[in-house]
Order: sequence, then structure tokens, then C-alpha cells
Amino acid sequence: MATRLPEAPKVGMVSLGCPKNLVDSERILTKLRSDGYALSPDYAGADVVLVNTCGFLDSAKEESLEAIGEAIAENGRVIVTGCMGKEAEVIRARFPNVLAVTGAHQYEEVVGAVHDAAPMPPSPFVNLVPDSGLKLTPRHYSYLKISEGCNHRCSFCIIPSLRGDLVSRRPDAILREAEKLVAAGTKELLVISQDTSAYGIDIRKEPRAWKGREVVPHMTDLARELGQIAPWVRLHYVYPYPHVDQVIPLMAEGLVLPYLDIPFQHAAPNVLRAMKRPANEAKVLERLRGWREIAPDITIRSTFVVGFPGETEEDFQYLLDWLDEAQLDRVGAFRFEPVEGASANDLPGAVPEDVKEERYARIMEKTAAISAAKLQAKIGRQLEVIIDAVDEDGGATGRSQADAPEIDGEVFLRDAGHLGQGDIVKVLIEDADEHDLYGVPMG
Ligand code: SF4
Repeated sequence: MATRLPEAPKVGMVSLGCPKNLVDSERILTKLRSDGYALSPDYAGADVVLVNTCGFLDSAKEESLEAIGEAIAENGRVIVTGCMGKEAEVIRARFPNVLAVTGAHQYEEVVGAVHDAAPMPPSPFVNLVPDSGLKLTPRHYSYLKISEGCNHRCSFCIIPSLRGDLVSRRPDAILREAEKLVAAGTKELLVISQDTSAYGIDIRKEPRAWKGREVVPHMTDLARELGQIAPWVRLHYVYPYPHVDQVIPLMAEGLVLPYLDIPFQHAAPNVLRAMKRPANEAKVLERLRGWREIAPDITIRSTFVVGFPGETEEDFQYLLDWLDEAQLDRVGAFRFEPVEGASANDLPGAVPEDVKEERYARIMEKTAAISAAKLQAKIGRQLEVIIDAVDEDGGATGRSQADAPEIDGEVFLRDAGHLGQGDIVKVLIEDADEHDLYGVPMG
């Protein structure tokens, strides 16, 4: 018997305005085609019509409004995008029935609106690209990007000049992607961005419907939702702003892994000032103490730069003393290197290379000792471990909740031949060294 393939929904497009808008239309249609949508050359055959508007001159606006009116009269199911999207109230006042209004270059939003208005029927026979998209990581963990760009201007960093200010993805698009990844086998979501704690500040007043409820674009709300989708959710690139306190209870509840990756970069106030770092480091130790009271197992990972221009021996010693207090679980250190285009390159007080080397060796020695002591304290405990690989002689390699892939330590298991990649199991920890743990699966 022949297999009947489900019919793809059809999208009609009316593209107005300049060549830039035309390129945007092509980009939107390319994405929709790769998602499996068909195109309709007329209003009658379309399940939904996109009107890509121009708002450059008053006459262009009027033409755009007329085109929206025509699409509504001829088809009725209309999504508006393009430059006039900035004037959503004007459009909605005249055409209350439009399904969605998105602005220029908001490709993800407009594609998301088409998916909402005319969902694709699932079809494993025609979708060659898995629902989760193409991944470069193993099946059981995936990076999930929640925003692009950054509003800070740290003096050693050129990301804002390359990528621009923070632009957050809409929460429902992130959650939809998370759900697809989990359906395709992801057990651990690694939330990334340039500044995860700033997520949503640009779109705070635009909550989105998700599973019958509203999700506010805020790190805590997003983390709570993600925690209901994936077994493990790990937050990277978080700054210790006061509102980060709100995600710690989610860790205590088991919704989000008790792990925060916070790139402190330094602790000495004048170095931080020269770096133009966003957070107030004076309150950080207090904040760490508070977090550990709520989630005692919380792992704090961080990175530091040594030999930043103007860093004196006193500044560096301040950092080492601060690390003694902070007792961070995982630390990566870098020797300062001038990056072309960074304003820090013009600062006075360049630190000689041999001094940088010596400071690097001292910070690594200090942090390795802290890490070793923390791992020793885990011997005898039962920890949850996710399996990354099983070898042929019955051993396996995994990671505890305290270990992000690639950057932190590992857990080496014996008698683990029955396990598979992506399994999450309880492990009795039998031994430890500076960075890794050794154990045996329970049961
Ligand atoms: S270091 Fe991070 S916070 Fe600072 S400007 Fe670069 S991306 Fe933004």
C-alpha cells in the first residue's frame, strides 16, 4: 500500500519596498521552504499570507496598509512583517484580525508566527533534517543560544563591536527549540549567550504564549520553563546581578543544575574598573555565601585574566586572597593578550610577559589546590552522572552535575559496560584527583 504523505501548508508572500526588503523576503521564504512549507502563487491557495511591508515614506506606508487590506479581504489569514512592523498599533487599529506583526530583520519571529498559524504536520518520510536541526555536539547534550550581542563594553573584548548590542530571542522560539532537541535525544541543555543574566531586557514587555501560559522574557522564567523540558539545564555566562538570586531556588528544587558559570575575570577593584566589568565585585562574596546556603551543592565555575594592563602585585595578591575566600569549584585562567580593536590595548602599565607567566602559574596552583580539596570531599558520596562514552573494556566516562562538557572535569567509571551514552545514573565516588573523579555505578 502506498504511503500518503501529509500535504505541506502553503505560504503566500506579498513583498513591497526596496531591494533590502526583497532580500529579507527571500531569506524568510528560504527558511520556510527548508522547514518544509510550500509556496502559493495566489491568495486562494495559501494557508497563510505574509505581507513584507515598507515604511520609509508616508506613501509607502499607505501602500503597505492597502496591501494588508487586500490580503485580509482575499485570504483572511495574514502575518505582517518588515519596516512597518515598528507601527504595530497602527496596523492592528486598522486590521484587528492580523495574526501577527513582526519588524524588519526579525526572521525568527516571522518564521515562528508562520509555524503557529499553519503548523507543519510531522512527517518522518520527507523531513531529512531532524526536527532538532543539525547538531555538532553528541546527541545527549546541546547548546541553546538565547541571545546574541552584548550591552556591556568590557575593555578587553570586541564582541559588542562585532555582534552589536544584546538582541534576545523570543522565549517561545527558545522553548520550541529546546523541546525539539529533547525529543531528538538531548538530556542536557547548555544555555549560552554573551550575558545570560541580561536575557530579555530588550524585549521584557513582550511575553509570549507557551503551552497555555505567558512566559516573560527573563532569565528566571526561561530557566523554570527549560527545567520542565530537559532533565539537565546548565546556565553559562551569568553575571552576579541581584536578580540571579532568583534562579538559585530553582536549583534547590532540581529544575536547573546547581551550577553557574560566572566569568568574574578579576577581583581587585581597580583592575575591574579598568576592565569596565559590569558587576560590583564587593558584594559577590556575600552573594556566593547566600547562594550556598540555599543550594549547598552549587558549583561555581569562572575564568580570570592575569597580567591585565596596570595589574600590580598587590592587585594580583588581592585576587589570590579573594579566591581563598570565594572557594570557587572550577577556574580557568588566561594571560592577558591584546585583541585587535580592544580599548584595553591603549591602557598604560603593560605587564611584562615573564610576570604574566609567573602570575599564571600562581593562580593555577592556587585554584588546582582548591579544586582538589573540593573533589576529595566528594569521595564516598553518591552523585548523579551523565554518561558521555562507554569503552570496550567495561569502563565509561561521564560528568557529574558539577562538570560542563569540554571545560570541566570528568568522572571515570569502572564496571559500567551496561550503560549507554546519555544515561543519567547514580555513581558512588571512590577516588579523586585535582580535576576528575573516579567511581562505580550504583545498581
Ligand atoms: S566580555 Fe562579555 S560582558 Fe564584556 S563586553 Fe564582552 S561579551 Fe559583553
